[in-house]
Amino acid sequence: MNKNSSNIMALAPNTSNKRETVCIFGTGDFGRALGHKIIQAGYPLVFGSRSTQTSSLIPKDAEVLSHAEAAQKAAIIIIAIQRQHYNFLTPLAETLRGKVLVDVSNNLKINQYPESNAEYLAQLVPGAKVVKAFNTVSAWALQSGTLDASRQVFVCGDDMEAKQMVMDIVRALGLTPLDQGSLLAAQEIENYPLQLFPMWKFPILLSLGLTAFFFFYCLTRDVIYPYVYENKDFSFFIAISIPNRICPILALILLALVYLPGVLAAIIQLYRGTKYRRFPDWLDKWMLCRKQLGLVALAFASLHVLYTLVIPIRSFVRWRISSQTISQALNNETKPLNNTNAWLSDSYLALGILGFFLFVLLGITSLPSVSNNVNWREFRFVQSKLGYVTLVLCTAHTLVFGGSRFLSPSSYRWYLPNAYMLSLIVPCIVLVVKFVLIFPCLDKPLTRIRQGWERNPQYSE
Ligand code: NAP
Repeated sequence: MNKNSSNIMALAPNTSNKRETVCIFGTGDFGRALGHKIIQAGYPLVFGSRSTQTSSLIPKDAEVLSHAEAAQKAAIIIIAIQRQHYNFLTPLAETLRGKVLVDVSNNLKINQYPESNAEYLAQLVPGAKVVKAFNTVSAWALQSGTLDASRQVFVCGDDMEAKQMVMDIVRALGLTPLDQGSLLAAQEIENYPLQLFPMWKFPILLSLGLTAFFFFYCLTRDVIYPYVYENKDFSFFIAISIPNRICPILALILLALVYLPGVLAAIIQLYRGTKYRRFPDWLDKWMLCRKQLGLVALAFASLHVLYTLVIPIRSFVRWRISSQTISQALNNETKPLNNTNAWLSDSYLALGILGFFLFVLLGITSLPSVSNNVNWREFRFVQSKLGYVTLVLCTAHTLVFGGSRFLSPSSYRWYLPNAYMLSLIVPCIVLVVKFVLIFPCLDKPLTRIRQGWERNPQYSE
């Protein structure tokens, strides 16, 4: 069967309510892809085009007419044409009077024009009812059927009836319409597909900043210091040793930063005695990107695991073990097993393994396909309770790693403590504050506040 020319079987061909004809202006990529879907949903389709010649790419069951002829056949016209060509619609204004015009267009830049494309269309054809829709769905996704990530279609418009008609088509295509209100919302809807990972910006910039800071910190302590004082060249530490210090540090700090806004919010609510006043903007934004912070933390933790796995095959490590063995043989001595060190080393590894296991579990439950299958209580249990257990395990892993070296003056170089000691500051603050908040004298009022109780109701906004 020719995939392009379209012996498409309508999904709802025997529907008792005969569907109204839909018109699409423009036989480009998007018009054709949407046209295929519309025919599959059982709608008669007509294309309005500059050229009335049909081609094998155009759905077989669709008519191709001039713009004016096509517009007369349908109450809904989808304008699958770039905004810069909209002026061809001006002479058609009378034909388009009273019709529903669906603007699907996107721009190349955020806020490229003073008004949204949909508002511009409404100005060009004042007698028509303009609705914005479909701009967040790609032609490729429509054609390939991979619409899982973009099943939602934002719809906005000033005419309720027109909006309803468009939302019915959206539903018939197996998509989910989301009413965003009046045409004023069109600018925001048009900007939406142009945003580059908006929720990831803060976590990624923060991780880049922290990575740069800890890289230079470790470089100073572990490479430059031995070179200056002992004339030893450890520059190869840049390849594995330093990244393997930075990754666990960032994983721990970022994981703690996932839980820090929660404890700050609790303190603010306790202080204000109400949950009905808005948090500061920065806290709201921080809370919204906790999932992304957690996933970046998980990425660093996974890298730490990989770097750790290669330790035994590193040339430096093999050299150090063999030179220690040779030195014992030359001195005819056998160092006894240090039980304390063995305990510390095994406990630190065990805590790391358990912490990483729970870390992965947190990551998996944050995936939409998994979180959609658990109820709110189960989700909270995993993300909050298990999340704190993960933070405790990872913090303990780092504390035990420090072991007896923790406060020893020899571990300071140029007065700089070991980098992992810095990584403990934020998690320890979060855990201590969380621990204090568990005390009944704070936990009880906080629970009541979260259930709607107010200390001074007259002060809430
Ligand atoms: P395209 O492949 O370039 O097609 C645009 C169509 O517009 C052409 O095939 C042509 O149709 C018509 N056209 C071009 N110049 C014209 C003119 N001077 N006067 C009248 N009609 C003209 O573009 P597209 O990718 O289909 O995108 C169409 C619209 O959908 C754009 O506004 C875009 O932002 C939006 N959109 C696209 C996608 C996507 O994935 N492609 C996703 C969401 C939204 P005829 O030859 O039949 O006249």
